[in-house]
Amino acid sequence: MREIYLDNSATTRPLDEVREIVSRMMESDYGNPSSMHQKGVDAEAAVRAAKEQIARALGFELRMKPYDREILFTSCGTESDNLAIIGTAMAYKRSGSHIITTQVEHPAVLQTMEYLKEQGFRVTYLPVDAYGRVLAKEVREALCEDTILVSIMAVNNEVGAMMPIAEIGAMLKKERPDIIFHVDAVQGFTKMDLLPKKMGIDLMSISGHKIHGPKGIAVLYVDDRVKLKPILFGGGQQQGLRSGTENVPGIAGIGLAAKMLSETKREDIERLYELKEFFVNGLREIPGIKVHGIPTDNDNEPDIRVTAPHIVSAGFTGISKAEVLLHALEEMGIYVSSGSACASNKPAVSATLKAMGIQKEYLEATLRFSFSVQTTKKDLEDTLKALQTMYPLLSRFSRR
Ligand code: PLP
Repeated sequence: MREIYLDNSATTRPLDEVREIVSRMMESDYGNPSSMHQKGVDAEAAVRAAKEQIARALGFELRMKPYDREILFTSCGTESDNLAIIGTAMAYKRSGSHIITTQVEHPAVLQTMEYLKEQGFRVTYLPVDAYGRVLAKEVREALCEDTILVSIMAVNNEVGAMMPIAEIGAMLKKERPDIIFHVDAVQGFTKMDLLPKKMGIDLMSISGHKIHGPKGIAVLYVDDRVKLKPILFGGGQQQGLRSGTENVPGIAGIGLAAKMLSETKREDIERLYELKEFFVNGLREIPGIKVHGIPTDNDNEPDIRVTAPHIVSAGFTGISKAEVLLHALEEMGIYVSSGSACASNKPAVSATLKAMGIQKEYLEATLRFSFSVQTTKKDLEDTLKALQTMYPLLSRFSRR
């Protein structure tokens, strides 16, 4: 059976080149970057090269200084988010105790905010519109004198809403340059323009396994101006900001993935939008299916290009649990997810869909289809065909 993998927002299949470099690093360049002998020097050079690749993918050149902390390596997007948020809160707590975020962040952000609330911080969770977007104006209105941090995701992982990051960054730099701006770019990196130095972004989280890199490796971009307190204590690696021996094979892998994907980004995004358009139009033709989170333009046509190019969320009338459809598709070799599979495998009603005001009947009957550079039109044609035959059989709606 042909495999159709449409769960790329949960994780992606590593590129062949990434697999090769990771295995080569494990075989021969296995030194510890902290060691003083040649093996250590070689590992350190591999870490440096990966930092340069990532910096370039973020639109800047790493300055040639022996110790830099603009690109930190962590173990996952979750750790990058935790370090960004807790690290900022602890470093700036004398300046204030108010933090702004949105109701639709990933649990890596929302749960971290809950932890900080227990530590005495105040958190404002901004609402979103019917398409899952937060408005820059609402961020501005929520600012308080003692706001120290704004944390907003670039792309929502459940519905693909694209947030106005550049607009929020510019507004903050103009009106409140003292506030630190963190962007969870785990879903957005390589799918939209995210240039921290041009967009007023101070901290940015990126995860390897969402960009065809390895699992267990991620990045936190840290602007030079940001004071950050560590959340891991130990050997003082990475300027003391993230103790622990660096995952050198993973670092080489994420560096290469970031380089390769950013080089073809323009064409990839264009192709993904074409695929998304094709798929959304196909879904809209199937009675009972409701695509979430896509505004319409002046001609009342879906305005797909204001959403992320790789995520489609759709509700299914007459289905009590999305898992039923998910497993029926799986039987046909098609892998998708219900709600946000990357958060946990426990089904729960999605806070994002609720915040968007999606009708109750879809809250537990929504599937997420997510594409990558490896997705083909044939994958989507076959998925649409599968849905056309299988969904009516499973839905109560069509039998009424
Ligand atoms: N932030 C967002 C928006 C995500 O989608 C995810 C994972 O799905 C994460 C953070 C967590 O990333 P990781 O799985 O690398 O911990």
